[in-house]
Amino acid sequence: MRSYTQFYIDGRWTSPVTPKTAEVINPATEEVSGEISLGSPADVDLAVAAARRAFATYGESSVKDRLDLLESIQAEYVRREAELGEAIMVEMGAPKGLANGFHTLLGKGHLGTAIEVLKEFKFEEQRGVTLIRKEPIGVCGLITPWNWPMNQTCVKIFPALAAGCTMILKPPQLAPYSAQILAEILDKAGVPAGVFNMIQGQGSVIGAALTRHEDVDMISFTGSEPVGVQIQKDAADTVKRVGLELGGKSAWIVLDDASLAANVAGATAGMMGNSGQTCSAGSRLLVPASRLDDVKRAAAEAANGVTVGDPQSDVAMGPVVSKSQYNIIQQYIEKGLEEGAELIAGGLGRPEGLDKGWYVKPTVFVGTNDMVIAREEIFGPVLVIIPYDDIDDAVRIANDSNFGLGGYVSGEDLDTCRAVSRRMRTGAIWVNGGFDFHAPFGGYKRSGNGREWGEFGFHEYLEVKSVIGWN
Ligand code: NAD
Repeated sequence: MRSYTQFYIDGRWTSPVTPKTAEVINPATEEVSGEISLGSPADVDLAVAAARRAFATYGESSVKDRLDLLESIQAEYVRREAELGEAIMVEMGAPKGLANGFHTLLGKGHLGTAIEVLKEFKFEEQRGVTLIRKEPIGVCGLITPWNWPMNQTCVKIFPALAAGCTMILKPPQLAPYSAQILAEILDKAGVPAGVFNMIQGQGSVIGAALTRHEDVDMISFTGSEPVGVQIQKDAADTVKRVGLELGGKSAWIVLDDASLAANVAGATAGMMGNSGQTCSAGSRLLVPASRLDDVKRAAAEAANGVTVGDPQSDVAMGPVVSKSQYNIIQQYIEKGLEEGAELIAGGLGRPEGLDKGWYVKPTVFVGTNDMVIAREEIFGPVLVIIPYDDIDDAVRIANDSNFGLGGYVSGEDLDTCRAVSRRMRTGAIWVNGGFDFHAPFGGYKRSGNGREWGEFGFHEYLEVKSVIGWN
């Protein structure tokens, strides 16, 4: 049993002002895996005051000092990486290979990228008579979700530290352990008191208190669209900057000349990765209508081939994060059946032989873009295949969404892929795969307004000052 009942405030492990705890449930077993404290606005006040005090010096620290600090965190992160992986497996049910692989690697990657960017970043440049300075925005509230816990926290903390900001992290209540270990890492690495603070607790209490706080300069939020809307409203009275990274319903366009076997199987398995709990997942697979029968065969085979089970074993997919997430996904599968979508793999209930734990069947429908299952973010292992007539039709369907986070184009002819990628109204598009820590990541439309990753992630945490008459 893990017991993480202290917060990290002003460089010390601190008991909550008002003691209150909550159980954390292991989604693979439905059993209690530990407890955390739930903070109150009084804890937020202490953390914000510490961050404000620390900003007076850290905000003026040198790039060299900040690089030394990030490098010292890097060494400590690598030392504790296996513990982070174990924590992620227990808290949100990622299979051990994924938890100890891509999950922790993403955090380490954002840290390494922040170091690389900081080495080259121009905080000052002269244009004519004006000096343009990029200065840290100040005290930041960082609010993160549970689905890729190290990715979401690290993509905020390290650019914020590199920029010279101080911060208060509010990790997700469902996945609090990895954040606690990360706070230990930052403490051990020598982050100055007050620069990084962490309070666990409920979003509606801690997240809202940070968002409304007079002395917090910006909020960086990753999570669902409805909470993002609430955060913008709560932040309005104090006119603070709000960076939003929200949900998606991303289209994967398989072009006519693409190899169906490889691409449909890849897209289907990709959708089931992390139990479908990925904001940029290609949850709408757009395929040529003339090849639908072949697509159905390939997708059903791929979905039926996904191994589901205990995250401690060698499976491709573990459970989804919680009972409530399980129930939401079941309701969407039911809705798909009601709407008349054709079920070609998976369906309602748990996979055979798994009676305990929040396991969902890898599910594939063939449907139309006006169905609820094609319009709303399900956030589970449910793929909707949608046939298209020609490229214009494919682009029209892809763009007919409230969201605009990810996008995928597969095809042999690179010029056609590029032309399609230009027409898609979405923040990040993968053409025949690829991965880049320096590529900006964020959404169009209701997928948000921020851009994280690489150099673009730094701008979230910087103000721009013009000093006119410098020269
Ligand atoms: P969520 O919106 O329920 O919670 C996210 C965080 O916000 C949690 O820490 C939560 O405690 C906190 N919160 C809840 N209510 C709040 C309030 N009123 N004020 C301030 N904070 C509050 O989201 P989730 O279920 O944890 O995560 C899943 C969602 O995150 C999905 O919609 C997914 O697409 C999205 N997501 C987006 C990205 C991206 O980069 N665009 C990445 C990962 C996840």
